[in-house]
Amino acid sequence: MPMLRIASRNIHLDGGSLVSGSVLCTPGEPLEFELGNRFGIDIQLPDSAHIALGRFDPHVHFREAVVPTREEVEEHGPAGVDYDQLVASIRQANALYSVRSGCLAALKGGVTAVGAMGNTPWGPVGAYRHERTQKHYTQEGLIPIVVWPRMEPGVAAVSRHEGKDFGSTFGGSGLTEDARREMFALWRHEAVSYHNDQARSYETIAEFKDRTNIDDVLLHHQYFDGETVLGCQAKTMALAEQAGLSSLLARHIPTGPALQQILDARPEKTCRLPAEIGLDYVYWYRERLLAQRRETALINYRRPAHPSHEDQLYLIELTRSAVRSGDREIFFGSDHAPHPLEAKAFQDGLPGSPGTRNIEHSLQYYLELTRNHGYSWADIDRLASINPSKHMAQYFDFPYEIGTMRSGAMANLAIFDPEQPYQVDRDKLASQLEDPHYHSALEGESGLFGKSLFTVVNGRVWDVQNEPKPLN
Ligand SMILES: [Zn+2]
Repeated sequence: MPMLRIASRNIHLDGGSLVSGSVLCTPGEPLEFELGNRFGIDIQLPDSAHIALGRFDPHVHFREAVVPTREEVEEHGPAGVDYDQLVASIRQANALYSVRSGCLAALKGGVTAVGAMGNTPWGPVGAYRHERTQKHYTQEGLIPIVVWPRMEPGVAAVSRHEGKDFGSTFGGSGLTEDARREMFALWRHEAVSYHNDQARSYETIAEFKDRTNIDDVLLHHQYFDGETVLGCQAKTMALAEQAGLSSLLARHIPTGPALQQILDARPEKTCRLPAEIGLDYVYWYRERLLAQRRETALINYRRPAHPSHEDQLYLIELTRSAVRSGDREIFFGSDHAPHPLEAKAFQDGLPGSPGTRNIEHSLQYYLELTRNHGYSWADIDRLASINPSKHMAQYFDFPYEIGTMRSGAMANLAIFDPEQPYQVDRDKLASQLEDPHYHSALEGESGLFGKSLFTVVNGRVWDVQNEPKPLN
């Protein structure tokens, strides 16, 4: 078996200390971990490089869908759909982005497993379609991918999994509260996650634009001002309690007050309330958007919107204190959303599809926190590796123990140099990630740091310095 021994002075242990030693990686085999200096080293890392646990990202959109047969559509829905039209729309979507490109981007960011959303045509609705989509993602994936079943009204729960509710999403299915209540009832005793944004009840974004005449760069971010998130979270937590869910995960929390609301609710609710912090909300805030190149600022709107600087600083501080107090149910998610540029263009003065590519820059976001906000490596390892991996392992069978740096565990590692300055090179990334529509909200940003060197997935070592390629 092609075993590789990689040595470093900075291996991250679970308890937070850094030690000198080496890791032995063999595809499909568990990790072997050795302290101190050894002979027979295949890759000696530079002194500044680190070996940390592989990152787990529970929130990505890889956008690819299964192409079903005519019989499958007849049997498993959706009812009344034109089969040829459905297949045409799937092929069109699949031509724009693939599971493979998503995995290459993940590898570039040190991410070794992801949870994928099913808001795709013929997505993972119901047990059959979920299993079919999961198989497809496992077959196409370069890393383990957990496909989250998509909840829909009238469709039974996928048992012992975590259903995704798109009902609250602005621009998503936009279900009424009653429809969501009935849908949640079908998931009694099961786990659910949700998007925590919604439009204002009293004013549309077009009306808001007319009233305030605000700069397009800030239009989306001022309309969804954080109050919209608080409203959606409160409503959804109440629905979850009523329905008797076992767990309700709030996705991409964008502000301090939104996280505070969930932490405050935990002692009062019978349902568990894990919290996913939106990774790029630790970097972007409104004033920073205004300072951005206009061309990129206009594609850089998110769902939910980017916070005020004050709300962002509170989010950063609260997340750090929660993880340091031993909170195991708080973690990052990137919401990697690879839309083509055309889909993001303003139409009739209003923003198009929200979301940006993010996962390939996971390391640079972590470094924003370690360099500028006093986060330790232990904080990052908890939020990006240990906690999310334990969350995902409740719903997916990994071949070995995950989220721990010890012999016998699954060999998932992020190997990087935190000292190297970083700048986005759009053309290079387009080719390295096999993503012809590549663009980045971080394009033109200065002051970024971090270079991913190797990413190890279940013992397979990928050199990710240029185009990701496996070494063993
Ligand atoms: Zn999302």
